[in-house]
Amino acid sequence: MSVQDLAQDYLATGKLGTLPDGHFINGKLTAASNGKMESFDPGRAEAFAEFSLASAEEMDAAIGAAEKAAAHWRRVAPGERCRILNEVARVFRANADRLAVMEVIDSGKTLAEATGDVNSSARLFEYYAGAADKLDGRSVNLGPDYTAFTVREPVGVTGHIIPWNYPTSTFARGVAPALAAGCSVVAKPAETTPFTALLMAELLSEAGVPDGLVNVVTGLGRDVGAQLARDPRIKQLTFTGSVATGVNVAQMAAPNITRLTLELGGKSPLIAFEDADPEKVADGAYWAIFSNSGQICSAGSRLILHKSIRGDVLDILAERASKIKPGHGLRSPDMGAINSDLHLSRIKAHVDAAKSRGVSILTGGDVTTDCETGKGWFFQPTVIADLQPNDPAVQEEIFGPVLSVQNFETEDEAIALANGTEFGLIASVYTRDVGRSMRVAAAMDCGQVSINDYWAGGLELPFGGNKKSGYGREKGWEGLDAYTKVKSITVSNAS
Ligand code: NAD
Repeated sequence: MSVQDLAQDYLATGKLGTLPDGHFINGKLTAASNGKMESFDPGRAEAFAEFSLASAEEMDAAIGAAEKAAAHWRRVAPGERCRILNEVARVFRANADRLAVMEVIDSGKTLAEATGDVNSSARLFEYYAGAADKLDGRSVNLGPDYTAFTVREPVGVTGHIIPWNYPTSTFARGVAPALAAGCSVVAKPAETTPFTALLMAELLSEAGVPDGLVNVVTGLGRDVGAQLARDPRIKQLTFTGSVATGVNVAQMAAPNITRLTLELGGKSPLIAFEDADPEKVADGAYWAIFSNSGQICSAGSRLILHKSIRGDVLDILAERASKIKPGHGLRSPDMGAINSDLHLSRIKAHVDAAKSRGVSILTGGDVTTDCETGKGWFFQPTVIADLQPNDPAVQEEIFGPVLSVQNFETEDEAIALANGTEFGLIASVYTRDVGRSMRVAAAMDCGQVSINDYWAGGLELPFGGNKKSGYGREKGWEGLDAYTKVKSITVSNAS
């Protein structure tokens, strides 16, 4: 079926062909033993399927299978790992339509966004396929009496706790480097987006990934997610989600000294100086906050404007934002849905609280529905102007299509505002002054800075945060570090 047929069929029936049922353990979908939970289509606010809630025994079996498979996989020749990971990318592409439509229905994003996520998932497997046979150590010069070198060894079984905003690409950005490095995987997708990880596990198996190497267990974070974080067989835990759950996961992993990568979100600034083109700034800010309905850890949720261009930029931005037509992701809307009613209520609570403080809302500010059907969980694209640095709308992650605007006069002031939250994920600087762009980039306390563009970069670049945005890096060559441990070997040359 073409992607259009799949979409039409779903929109007409509310049902999506065959969905993976159970947990993917040791190379196959296993019947679930512990009850089910409804999965909702956010674009309609209606349940479309049920998924399985894993028992502790099922999670235990998945970790056991991964432990057994890791012992074998670390001995597989790097060239063979490379071949299999490239095949995964090919199989993902061949199934891109199915994956993307499933992702739209599970997450609420638009088909264009979901297709982009599936493509970048395939690219992540290609990228790390190319790394599998290049994980070299280095030779170290200790003088003529010794030969010394390092090797990079796989860490073993890795756990992956996946969020709901990028279910496919967050799965791929952890699983691909783990497999390239010789590790095995147990992944737990978010409660509201369980299906694509199961389908991806099936596709990995079809591509030749050995049984037990990648296991997917669905269920509640506080149950099986916590079990994964606590299990001493897990040697690296990769977590993406909220700061509160990240802290909890870190505490649970601490007694085993489990290695951790934490990707915990942000309140990332786009700074625009007086010499920037207001049209370009407005365009950058638009995509920075309204892509994926603002449900992005690295969303540009703060716009920090020089006072001289404030009026021009906000006029353009507010007008464009007010014309956005939200709708079900399969109907090619301008903006998709909010992932759950719980999350929609969190966004509304943030904005209602801002309204009660008397802030200036230039556009939006309330929940809405699919402009065609009147259904679904949506929030109006919202721009809040002229905020003070300590305003909660500046300090707290809202994780929705809500932009907080701050104003400045001097470069020092702009830097202080940009760094003035507890987060430090990414930042963007718009200016024609090269020297200033480099000074400000150097002053940003965050993991990534782009100049005169917001979403510059890709999976080839390391990505991750400072401060409460987390630690560790994913993507790029540095994304392999979490999955390897360095061993130094020294040989005495004495006769
Ligand atoms: P969350 O952090 O609770 O959930 C993320 C993942 O952690 C899910 O897979 C969940 O099942 C799992 N989890 C939950 N409790 C757990 C536990 N005790 N032990 C182990 N795993 C557990 O996030 P949420 O409640 O879905 O969203 C809350 C906020 O988190 C959002 O408003 C947003 O600000 C932030 N968030 C950030 C990202 C990101 O990309 N950094 C992604 C999703 C949510």
